[in-house]
Amino acid sequence: MESVLAPASPHRGMDLTATARRLLEAGPVCDACLGRPVADRSFGLTNDERGRALRVTLALTDDEDFEPVAPSECWVCEGYCGAFDAIATTVVEALEGIDFATYQVGTRVPPLVEENDRLLREDAGLAEDAGEPLKREVNREVGRRVGARTGAEFDLERPDVLVVIDLEAFDPYDLDLEGAAEESRDDSTSADESATTEVSVTSHAVDCQINPAFVYGRYRKLERDIPQTEWPCRECGASGVQLGEHGEEPCDHCGGSGYLYDTSVEQVVRPHVVEAMDGDEGTFHGAGREDVDALMVGSGRPFVLEVKRPRYRRPDVEALEAEINEEADGAVEVEGLKLATHEMVERVKEHDASKRYLAQVTFGNPIDEATFREALETLDGATLEQYTPERVDHRRANLTRERTVYEIDGHLEDPTHAEVEVHGEGGLYIKELISGDGGRTEPSLAGLVGTAAEVEALDVLAVEGEDEPFERDAYLLE
Ligand SMILES: [Zn+2]
Ligand SMILES: [Zn+2]
Repeated sequence: MESVLAPASPHRGMDLTATARRLLEAGPVCDACLGRPVADRSFGLTNDERGRALRVTLALTDDEDFEPVAPSECWVCEGYCGAFDAIATTVVEALEGIDFATYQVGTRVPPLVEENDRLLREDAGLAEDAGEPLKREVNREVGRRVGARTGAEFDLERPDVLVVIDLEAFDPYDLDLEGAAEESRDDSTSADESATTEVSVTSHAVDCQINPAFVYGRYRKLERDIPQTEWPCRECGASGVQLGEHGEEPCDHCGGSGYLYDTSVEQVVRPHVVEAMDGDEGTFHGAGREDVDALMVGSGRPFVLEVKRPRYRRPDVEALEAEINEEADGAVEVEGLKLATHEMVERVKEHDASKRYLAQVTFGNPIDEATFREALETLDGATLEQYTPERVDHRRANLTRERTVYEIDGHLEDPTHAEVEVHGEGGLYIKELISGDGGRTEPSLAGLVGTAAEVEALDVLAVEGEDEPFERDAYLLE
């Protein structure tokens, strides 16, 4: 490999020693700061090694005594380049008790030190961005040490933990770095002795951000009148109280609980997952949602539970599943829980899905079998025009959507009651497909049979990906 001492071209070698001389002109510069402006040379060296090699080369060329410069004497980094071990020690301490497999390091460099780094290059006639910035060196040098001591992998994309170092939070002059640096250079020092001189920086300099962890699964809702997510009372702002003539009294709207429903799928699932991952809080993401009064049966509906600040990322999902189901006592069931990546959130929220429904329908006037069959045949495979239903939240834009009925079948139980099974495109409003919603859905079962038709009970039988299943191996952890 090409090294700084044996350049491919003698002219480059001349340039480099001349550059090193210019870098040293303005004042004492430590090895790392001397090597950093030429960090783009010779892969496989640290800046400290580059700088030391340059200093050795100059001493030999000039036949002068070799005079090292400790970081604490360096006008550029003001000692920070001697603190990598001490920072890493604090980082490792801060990460104690946190379960992580991947990490990333970010650094805030004091503006005055950044300015020194810039002046160093300017004075030596180098480009402002020559080599690499101090920030990147700290990230890499501290990161390398943290990786070696924890066995975790560096991950630039989506680490389990992001460590942010604020150099301004400590002064390297206050650390006993001289002793530590000498010992790390001195091979005769025993490992025991160097361990006792381990130096750390203040914990205020290190902030560990833990990225969320995710559990994917499918849920069934086996009782009606359970919303998917918790439903705070709007009248009292979830406080459960309202202002009456004699001061505060229980809210009329929610009965004082602050919530319109006692529980929700979210409230059944969330606490167990958050606790199993020792997290701070959790968010429920569903692949769409059924009406509060509809059951979710069959294969269930995909969801992801996102846990914020998990101290543990690998709970036993089978035990978790059993625990949730036992506690829910039949009202809600979860199935197929798996550890997932963050991509699974977008997957359940955005993936196109078709739905299968079973509807219990009541007709206003009796109808006969032939009329019923003919109506179903017309609807089978039909594309409907659905104007935003009356009952839907009107913060959503009112517009006409085209939705396809992939398949519809059913049987008349008596002249005013039928059971209808529908497989429809995602976004198809089933209650309106049956009722016609006062002409806002066209065609509809009510319109075709010529009498009012209402859904008395609705069960969602399946939520399935249109082109491919929700579950994707790349988004699931082993
Ligand atoms: Zn320095
Ligand atoms: Zn209320």
